[in-house]
Amino acid sequence: MKFENLKLIPSILKALEDQNYTHPTSIQEKAIPLILNNQDVLGSAQTGTGKTAAFAIPIIQHLAKDNKITSGRRRVKSLIVTPTRELAIQIGESFTAYAKYTQIKNTVIFGGVKQGAQVNAMHRGVDVLVATPGRLLDLMNQGFISLNDIQYFVLDEADRMLDMGFIHDIKKIIAKLPKQRQSLFFSATMPKNIVELSRQILRNPQKIAVNPVSSTAETIQQFLYKTNKSNKPALLLHILKDPKIEQVLVFSRTKHGSDRIVRNLKKKDINSAAIHGDKSQNQRQRALKEFKQGKVNVLVATDIAARGIDIDKLQHVINYDIPNESETYVHRIGRCGRAGENGISISISDAEELAYIRDIEKLTKQKISVIDDHPFPQTDKPMNAAEKKEFEKEKQRKKQEFFANRNKKRGAQNPGFRRGRR
Ligand code: AMP
Repeated sequence: MKFENLKLIPSILKALEDQNYTHPTSIQEKAIPLILNNQDVLGSAQTGTGKTAAFAIPIIQHLAKDNKITSGRRRVKSLIVTPTRELAIQIGESFTAYAKYTQIKNTVIFGGVKQGAQVNAMHRGVDVLVATPGRLLDLMNQGFISLNDIQYFVLDEADRMLDMGFIHDIKKIIAKLPKQRQSLFFSATMPKNIVELSRQILRNPQKIAVNPVSSTAETIQQFLYKTNKSNKPALLLHILKDPKIEQVLVFSRTKHGSDRIVRNLKKKDINSAAIHGDKSQNQRQRALKEFKQGKVNVLVATDIAARGIDIDKLQHVINYDIPNESETYVHRIGRCGRAGENGISISISDAEELAYIRDIEKLTKQKISVIDDHPFPQTDKPMNAAEKKEFEKEKQRKKQEFFANRNKKRGAQNPGFRRGRR
C-alpha cells in the first residue's frame, strides 16, 4: 500500500514526500481510513510504530477541508494530550511537518517553563493544540484556553499517563470537551483501568492493534552481560570502547543513578549528558538537541524522560539496570531500530536482576543472547529469601537515616524550615 491509496489531499502527500515516507506503517494503514471516516479509534500501539502520523495526518486533512479555518480568529479545533514534554514537542514537530503545505497552525504547551510564550501563541490563534495535562488545566483555569470548539481529541500514551498519576487531570479535561467530537485513544498496553477510561471518552470505537507491547521489533538484536553490581561502571566503559557504538541511549532507573553514570563517563572524557525530571526544560532540550546533532555521544535517561524520545537512526540502547516491569524493557529497546532501522540492545544485569531478565524473556518469548567473553564476569549469587529480607531492612534503615540527617541539616540552616514546605 502507498500513501496515494489512502485518499490523502495533495498538500499532505507532498509533505510526506518531503519526509521521505514512501509507505504507510501498519498502524497508519489501519487508522487513517477510519479516522478520515469520522470514527472513534481505540489504538493499541507503542511509540516507534508511526502512531503520531497515524492520527496527525487525518486530523490535518479534516481541518484542511474545513474552509472556515482561515477566516476570522482561529479557535482550537483539535487537542492532543500527551504525558511528557518531550512527546508533546515531538508531536508538535510532526504536525508542523505534515501540515507544511496547508494553513494549519499548531502550538505546544507543557509545564516547567514560564507560561508567557505559550499564552501569546494561544492569543495569536492555533488550530491544533498539543499539551501535557497539568499546564493545559492551569491555562484553562486562568481563562487562556477554551475547549469549546474542539472537534478532534486525541489521548496519547494513556497507560503512561495513568502511571504518572494524571487520571484526575484527564477526567477534568474530558469534562470540558464538547460532547459532539471525534476521539482517538492510544495506549501501548490495555489493562482494565485503561479500557475503563477509554469507555468514558470514545463512542463506538473501532479497535486497532499493532505490535502489542510484548513484541520487540525483529530488527533489534538483544544482548546480555552478566556482572556484579559493583562492576557495572567499569563494564559500561568497556562496552563503550566498541567503535561501532557511536551514539547510545543509556537507561537508568533513577535520576541519581543517571547523574552518577554521567559523572563517571565524564571522568573518562566521554561526551555524555543526562535527562530526567530534575533537569530544567532547557537543560533537557539542549541535551536532546546535542545528542541529535552528534555532539553528545552518550545520553543517559530515566524511563519517563526517555518516553517519546525520537531519534532517527539510533542503533544502540544500553540498559544499565534491568527494569522490574518487563513492558518497560520493551519500551526502552524500542527507542532504537525504529521505522525499520537495525538496532542493538545491550543489558547489564547483576545477580539480583536476573529474575527480571527471566520475566522479560517470558513476556517477549525471545531469548536474550548472553555475552560471556568480557573482563567483569558475575561472581555474586542472588540472595536467598532471608538475605533479601535483611537487605531490605538495612536499605530502609539507611533511607530513614538519610532523611533524618537531611532534615536535621535543613533545620539547622533554616530554623523556619518544616517538613513538607518547599
Ligand atoms: P512514532 O511511532 O510516531 O513515534 O514514529 C516513529 C518514527 O517513525 C518517527 O521517526 C517517524 O518520523 C517515523 N515514521 C512515521 N511514519 C513513517 C513512514 N510511513 N515511513 C517512514 N518513517 C515513518
